[in-house]
Amino acid sequence: MLGDRNWKAPPSDYLVGFDGRFRIANAPTGPSGKVDEAAVDDERRERTHAIGELQRKLYAENRHAALFVFQAMDAGGKDSTIRNVFTGVNPAGFQVSPFGVPSAEELDHDFLWRISRRLPERGRIGVFNRSHYEEVLIVRVHPGLLAPQRLPNHDPEAIWSQRYESIRNFEKHLAESGTIIVKFFLHVSRDEQRDRLLRRIDRPSKNWKFNPRDVQERTLWPEYMRAFEDALNATSRPWAPWYAIPADSKPYMRLQVARIVQQTLEGLDLAFPTLDDEARQALAECRAVLERQ
Ligand code: ATP
Ligand code: MG
Repeated sequence: MLGDRNWKAPPSDYLVGFDGRFRIANAPTGPSGKVDEAAVDDERRERTHAIGELQRKLYAENRHAALFVFQAMDAGGKDSTIRNVFTGVNPAGFQVSPFGVPSAEELDHDFLWRISRRLPERGRIGVFNRSHYEEVLIVRVHPGLLAPQRLPNHDPEAIWSQRYESIRNFEKHLAESGTIIVKFFLHVSRDEQRDRLLRRIDRPSKNWKFNPRDVQERTLWPEYMRAFEDALNATSRPWAPWYAIPADSKPYMRLQVARIVQQTLEGLDLAFPTLDDEARQALAECRAVLERQ
């Protein structure tokens, strides 16, 4: 039984089904029609504002935690999507955690250790910029990355399905404890990625973002797509759904993410806590005391 039995994954064309039939080759990387960017941005801004209002209730209720996970190929747009969708939230109840190459200390623990340390507390929103999924994405594409993890006697064939199972169990446990988990795969096309990497080279203000490694990783596109497809099929579940969001149009992508985040929080039926008669009586007495002073 789940922590919040009433919560349902917000419906969307981009929801990855729970039956293992998601095919990445059929998943769009762009909107189906022409996008009116100004209208799309306006709607996104309204939703960003609404997300901020919902967060105040989440915080006041202090019952649920919400975790939003972002994964993408390089230059998929994670950073700017996170920035745009969450600009309305109060930083006091919000934390973004990026996950890069694991440190020596992190490698001395199981792969979920560093993740657990960054989970949002009750009443808070947590965002993962990359996540435990790197362990079945980059590590799967480069199995040599397993060596520094010094796993005893691991079976190179079985390890990925074991990791999917670990992740499913971990996320189910979190859901049962009151953490709502929603995961976004920002699905950019290979051509659009090339254009964005070129912009990082051409624009001095973007040079710092350019990493020559990204050009190398691009050559492994089919391997990455296969790893994404398998991971999404194995771990999209009603309590921790994946959404494969078309990422070639940034305004469109941000709007889809904002809508799903908003509906996720709305689905929690959040409300400011109300006082019972006794507490209201106590307030009235305090008021009387203050007025006499
Ligand atoms: P962006 O996500 O915007 O591209 P970035 O690439 O600059 O940011 P960094 O912190 O420099 O972010 O590095 C992230 C790198 O760490 C990525 O290449 C990612 O695949 C890698 N990484 C993340 N988790 C793991 C992991 N568990 N094992 C190995 N590599 C990992
Ligand atoms: Mg990068």
